[in-house]
Amino acid sequence: MINKENTYKKIQNLLLNGKLSFNFNLASNTWLKTGGNADIFFIPEDVNDLRRFLKSIKNNLPFYILGAGSNTLFRDFGFDGAVIKLSKNFDYVKFINDKEFKVGAATNCIKLARLLAKNSATGLEFFSGIPGSIGGAIKMNAGAYGYETSKLLTKIKLLDSKDGKIKEILSKDYKMQYRHTNFPDEYIFLEATFKYIKNDNISENLKKINELVSQRELTQPIQEKTSGSTFKNPIHKKAWKLIQESGCKNYKLGKAHLSRIHSNFIINEGGATSNDIEKLGEKIINKVHQKFGIKLVWEIKIIGRKGLCQND
Ligand SMILES: Cc1cc2nc3c(=O)[nH]c(=O)nc-3n(C[C@H](O)[C@H](O)[C@H](O)COP(=O)(O)OP(=O)(O)OC[C@H]3O[C@@H](n4cnc5c(N)ncnc54)[C@H](O)[C@@H]3O)c2cc1C
Repeated sequence: MINKENTYKKIQNLLLNGKLSFNFNLASNTWLKTGGNADIFFIPEDVNDLRRFLKSIKNNLPFYILGAGSNTLFRDFGFDGAVIKLSKNFDYVKFINDKEFKVGAATNCIKLARLLAKNSATGLEFFSGIPGSIGGAIKMNAGAYGYETSKLLTKIKLLDSKDGKIKEILSKDYKMQYRHTNFPDEYIFLEATFKYIKNDNISENLKKINELVSQRELTQPIQEKTSGSTFKNPIHKKAWKLIQESGCKNYKLGKAHLSRIHSNFIINEGGATSNDIEKLGEKIINKVHQKFGIKLVWEIKIIGRKGLCQND
């Protein structure tokens, strides 16, 4: 039997260096800007802080490791446990040599793409359109334009929350497929090593990125409150096409609707609840299934307590 009160007291007495909050609203920490409260929200200062925190909640409280929140929908009833977000101390890039660099798991992919281009490092330009963290990119095997995170990733340093040990793993020993990986949920990524291809023509490197960004601006509603692609593309099919062809293009629920620019993007037009978004997604899944017999699978991670809301 889980004794939450005792666990909370224990955590409060830990004298952690990071930022610890109780009953913390999660909306501002996700791109969709919806969601309820986490029992605990913790931003560890460093790995020792993280380790001590995890030790104190061991087996007593579930936890969710949050990156930039660009692929996460927290339900309105919040999260029964601890949400952990790595601090700025996990945001760094270190070049090892002319072929490899290390990057902290909290580093933003868009920022990284530009920094690499300016430092003659190419091959990861697709990161210029992915508003997540490196930790999130590894877990999701994020990708675009035929490139994926797995392509140049070689090693990952992580904290295994099961035994509290820091480990270094080789990415090739794990499955990293289209928006799916088999890394255990106990793994908290701390740092990654990537290969790169050296190109000292910096203006050419930046031009490549600017072209990708312009292309994206034309085809995706990147200024909106969204989580990017809502559903994964089924094999040999495009989710946006199935959605359009099944007549869901103008679907709306509460303050959530499908983007006019990209039918696989759900938008919070302001004031949407997570329930609006989840129910709209379910309505689309059902309609596409009725029309094509294909069950779309969420790409967005839906996290938290289920409860009855107005639209149920
Ligand atoms: C406008 C927009 C455009 C997008 N375009 C693309 C695109 O082109 N291609 C694409 O693939 N995705 C795209 N996405 C989706 C999203 O940006 C990616 O999935 C991204 O990799 C998620 O990173 P995050 O840090 O935001 O992850 P979060 O949403 O915070 O978390 C996602 C998953 O990663 C895990 N995670 C996060 N950090 C860690 C860590 N340190 N250790 C272990 N696990 C961790 C979480 O537990 C969760 O399971 C887009 C999203 C938006 C809003």
